[in-house]
Amino acid sequence: MRTLFRGGTVVTAEGARQEDLLVDGERIAAIGQRLPDDGAAVVDAPGLLLLPGGIDVHTHLDMPLGDTASADDFTSGHLAAAFGGTTSHLDFAIQPKGASLREALDLWHARAAGRATIDYGFHMTIADPTPAVLDEIALLPDWGVTTVKVLMAYKGRLQVDDATLFAIARRTASAGILLMAHCENGDAIDILVREAVAAGCRSPRCHALTRPAELEGEATGRAIALAAVAGAPLYVVHVTCDLALQQVRAARARGLRVWAETCPQYFFFTADDLDRPGFEGAKFVCSPPFRTARDQEALWEGVRDGSLDVVATDHCSFNFATQKTLGRDDFSKIPSGVPAIEDRLMVLHHAGVDGGRISLGRFVELTATNPARLFGIYPRKGSLTVGADADIVLFDPQAERTLSARTHHMRVDYNLFEGMTVRGAPVAVWVRGRQIVDGDRFLGQSGSGRFLHRARFAP
Ligand SMILES: [Zn+2]
Repeated sequence: MRTLFRGGTVVTAEGARQEDLLVDGERIAAIGQRLPDDGAAVVDAPGLLLLPGGIDVHTHLDMPLGDTASADDFTSGHLAAAFGGTTSHLDFAIQPKGASLREALDLWHARAAGRATIDYGFHMTIADPTPAVLDEIALLPDWGVTTVKVLMAYKGRLQVDDATLFAIARRTASAGILLMAHCENGDAIDILVREAVAAGCRSPRCHALTRPAELEGEATGRAIALAAVAGAPLYVVHVTCDLALQQVRAARARGLRVWAETCPQYFFFTADDLDRPGFEGAKFVCSPPFRTARDQEALWEGVRDGSLDVVATDHCSFNFATQKTLGRDDFSKIPSGVPAIEDRLMVLHHAGVDGGRISLGRFVELTATNPARLFGIYPRKGSLTVGADADIVLFDPQAERTLSARTHHMRVDYNLFEGMTVRGAPVAVWVRGRQIVDGDRFLGQSGSGRFLHRARFAP
């Protein structure tokens, strides 16, 4: 099966050029001026952009949490991702207490098996770091997993202490694994949360009050220092504030191997959104929390000057009516997380590219090329180049779309960006040469998404 995209604008991290693009089978076969169709199916694309399929390296589909689980599974999550122009994602396999890493990975493979319609891989979140588990880290690359995440928050549940973080960092460094860290000081947060609840601070706003930016900045600096001494390259997930960003910048200025991510929602919301009336603020509860307008500007500066490398979603959806309400009387019981997997490209294009803050090339770099490079799937994924997988998004930069729970494909009862009208939206999507989205129609077939066996860390 051959497909010729004719007359569109091909966008890569280097920039945008009007060129034809030929797909043969699963791969991109040629890019150039006036390519002959030679019997290929022709897609006329004048006025449209050809983007490399989006890569969302931070998702939590079908994630267990206490007695509940995140609302989107691999079926609805992939459907929504596809409509949003994302064709690959990396989800976090979270080690259950007492389980081996291999068992954890098998659990997540089972969640995706038979359901996947886009390509997917896994990071390993270590939650029970026994000596046997530390020994198992070296085996992860053989299983296609070349990232390990540690959390410095969620005390008593997922949090690792400094000794453990340091021990894990030494193991990831020698195994060719990129260490990822959730940077917040969980010890201090634990005290602040207990004090707030006891003092009667129970509303969603208290979630932000008990997780101050100082504690993200501090933990970011600490993770950087521990990783540096261990010789481990480090990727800081979901940077939300200027204080954390300053740590990343300073580390890079010292020549340390540190990369950083933020999420689209942190550009749009502040802690004030947690004060929305009628418990609506619970829809905006995520960790780290939304910050200030000044932090939003700092994040834009970070994506412009290159100190932020990736925009991923941390998609972790919980229904407002049945799940967020678990914390109606106590903010600390609100499931933490927001839905964004479908809206990432649209809102970032709208505010970033259409808003004049970043170039199209930078947009592609943040949403596809850098994720592919850092996470061991480049050049197969992440760029429109000859030989790469034909993961292609046909994107109309003029199309207007109003984001809403009434029309989105995520299996969650609210949209974070409800009512926001964006300019620029995907109109058709291909994964490895097979079309999966055509306007409003979904053409993906369950089980057609493939596991991404990723290469060792070598950016
Ligand atoms: Zn996350």
